[in-house]
Amino acid sequence: MEKIDIKSLTIQELEEILIQWNQPKFRAKQIFDWLHKKRVLSFSEMTNLPEKLREILQSECQITVLNMQNKLVSKIDGTVKYLYQLSDKECVESVLMKYRHGNSICISTQVGCKMGCAFCASTKAGFVRNLTTSEILQQIYQTEQDLSLRISHVVLMGIGEPLDNYHNVVTFLQLIHSPFGANISLRNISLSTCGVVDKINQLAELKLGITLSVSLHASSDQVRSQLMPINQKWNIEQLLKACKYYTNMTGRRISFEYALIQGENDSIKAANQLADLLKGQLCHVNLIPVNEVHETTFQKTNRNHIYQFQKALEQRGINATIRRTLGADINAACGQLRRDSIYSNSK
Ligand code: SAH
Repeated sequence: MEKIDIKSLTIQELEEILIQWNQPKFRAKQIFDWLHKKRVLSFSEMTNLPEKLREILQSECQITVLNMQNKLVSKIDGTVKYLYQLSDKECVESVLMKYRHGNSICISTQVGCKMGCAFCASTKAGFVRNLTTSEILQQIYQTEQDLSLRISHVVLMGIGEPLDNYHNVVTFLQLIHSPFGANISLRNISLSTCGVVDKINQLAELKLGITLSVSLHASSDQVRSQLMPINQKWNIEQLLKACKYYTNMTGRRISFEYALIQGENDSIKAANQLADLLKGQLCHVNLIPVNEVHETTFQKTNRNHIYQFQKALEQRGINATIRRTLGADINAACGQLRRDSIYSNSK
């Protein structure tokens, strides 16, 4: 029988299991503390638990650990990119970025992705599986341990569509901000979605107060449907309605991601359309020169034109910044390291 993935459990779920084992409920917090604060790797290290309970835990449960398969450090800005291998030999990526305001990590939520965005490297090899809550957490815990530092900011912007792994991601959010665990403020967590509207609405109702980043990348349905198949299910109007709902429920502004692709979505007319769409929405636009990936012919918009696009938005009252590229020398854009590893393994 498969063992219980104990690091994916909330304190309440741990309590329920302890009750089934005729153990006192208060042990749940102790176990949680060993797993999420002290981060031990074995039950035998949980020295304040009775030996009998440690034996039960040992026979019924397992503690998830990832295997660091590759680690690249940028010589330019100290960004660190990890390729973490999971117990079934699948791999995901995490990227640690150092900013003045703290250390931020970009983590993955799925192995591969179903969403099929035309410009994205993560989706090219298809979808394999969802990450468990513990596999999402471990990317943070092991990076902290490897670099002997504390992470204050988390972005769910690595491989996968977080809202397509809704249950495990929401449990992750609960665990990572638990005062009995890593205690990372929900205000310092961003979740990026390609626009899974029904789940944006569900998330809004939880009122967690995390920042929602929405990958918009186009200002008309015609262009967006070509770049992002999800737009055929929920169009821009439906997506922006869900964004308004998210802001109304949480008071948080939305961060819209817009990757500029030469000749596809970067005309000044598109900028003006975008400004019209976002009028009245509490938001911020992040302009990103598209990362050129092998399988596509998309090219970056040049810098000068990006400034003009930004200016067009700002003239119409839309706050827009151009994203700084970090880790340019280590292929830090999402999906690229895993993809390169799949390629080199299959050669
Ligand atoms: N599935 C989620 C999160 C993962 S992708 C989402 O779609 O938001 C993280 C971000 O990188 C998204 O904004 C995505 O659109 C963007 N992205 C993917 N490939 C890119 C590329 N080649 N260049 C620039 N941005 C890219």
